[in-house]
Amino acid sequence: MPDLLGAHMSIAGGVYRALERGLEVGCSVVQIFLKNQLQWAAAPYSEEDIRRFRDAWKATRMRAVFAHSSYLINLAAPAEAEWKRAVAAFQDELERAEALGLPFVIIHPGSHRGEGLDQGISRIVAALDEVTARTRGYRVMVLLENTAGGGATIGRTFEELALLLRAVKVPERVGVCLDTCHLFAAGYDLRKPEGYDAAMQSCARHSAPGSIATKRSARASWAWPPSAGS
Ligand SMILES: [Zn+2]
Repeated sequence: MPDLLGAHMSIAGGVYRALERGLEVGCSVVQIFLKNQLQWAAAPYSEEDIRRFRDAWKATRMRAVFAHSSYLINLAAPAEAEWKRAVAAFQDELERAEALGLPFVIIHPGSHRGEGLDQGISRIVAALDEVTARTRGYRVMVLLENTAGGGATIGRTFEELALLLRAVKVPERVGVCLDTCHLFAAGYDLRKPEGYDAAMQSCARHSAPGSIATKRSARASWAWPPSAGS
């Protein structure tokens, strides 16, 4: 079994620097932001940025590079202007990822902000259909990350993720990213083999085969039961 352990790495100083930083600490895979994740706008990549990234990828021999989208983007946004801005920003991220040759961009599905689950699901599906149409022919896939839940966030359970996966027009461009910390916080007890197996079986039941591209563990808090809304 090859070692596929890695971590999120900073792109400060150039997107290629994340790969060098990953190598320095022994990663064989890394996750990056495609631009400053706290700002809407950023300069497009130059030819030089892309060339340096591709050279660094070869030199560092990273086995995979994942992108995580900006936390500003809410594909379930009820307000039209915010939804349009989110779709445009996510399209920009997919274009950046495609330019770098990345296989996946991970995104939190979104928050319906009190409008209800059905409404939120239909906003997200419309957004995913829009961005996949605007990036037709691209290889990069969208991975919907399970969330810790709480408030109006969508994607806490495999059932909710399945509603999205089944509704999109281009399912081959959409998969799932499992965040084990979020699963645990959402009530899946992964500490014991039985709990882990039950979660994975539920995941397999609700996801298309081959649509689960990565498992990751964010800041885990191993208190049980998890506090509500964490
Ligand atoms: Zn995430």
